[in-house]
Amino acid sequence: MKRILVIEDEPQMLLGLRDNLELEGYEVATAADGEEGLTKAAAFQPDLVLLDVMLPRKHGFDVCRELRARSSATPIVMLTARSAETDKVLGLELGADDYVTKPFSITELLARVRAVLRRTGGRPPAQDVVRIGEIEVDFKLHQAKRGKARVEFTAREFDLLRYFVQHTGQVVTREQILNEVWGYEEFPTTRTIDNFVAKLRQKIERAPHAPEHILTIHGSGYKFVG
Ligand code: CA
Repeated sequence: MKRILVIEDEPQMLLGLRDNLELEGYEVATAADGEEGLTKAAAFQPDLVLLDVMLPRKHGFDVCRELRARSSATPIVMLTARSAETDKVLGLELGADDYVTKPFSITELLARVRAVLRRTGGRPPAQDVVRIGEIEVDFKLHQAKRGKARVEFTAREFDLLRYFVQHTGQVVTREQILNEVWGYEEFPTTRTIDNFVAKLRQKIERAPHAPEHILTIHGSGYKFVG
């Protein structure tokens, strides 16, 4: 049974989310403010955190940062209200895996939860730390380094890189990547995949225009070689 922690200060919203998630078969813990959320996250060890942005005692963005700083790889879905919050989460500077804008339908929310759990709950890489050329990637800590310098990846870039690493030596099509990394609820174009691959190459390849790790297989897709 997957465990979900809901951190939300509006009582009705909190109860509604808890009831619906329990009906879906999840084990649910709740917290009504940011501090309680952090305490519960440590005690409950959730598989996913639903995190409101505007919270008393500790802002949702700070909760998100602290969860990540604790080296938690637990997926986080932010519940945002304002467009400015959405922009920030969209930048995914905070390490959130996805966001849902209020007001949302419960159907939409449950679909997002399923998609994020599927995307992040797949087979983990054989080891947490993987060396790719000059880059060392720690999939558990969501960190990457070139020598001593940090290399910043967004949550989605990490997901894509993890997918490539899990399929080392195999040709993967853009459609497979769309289904496995983005999920069927979202509809990016195959062009989106190419853009993300270009960004990954900028970060991990010695010469992005002559890639040695993420190879383009013309007419098929991509192949990652370690
Ligand atoms: Ca709130």
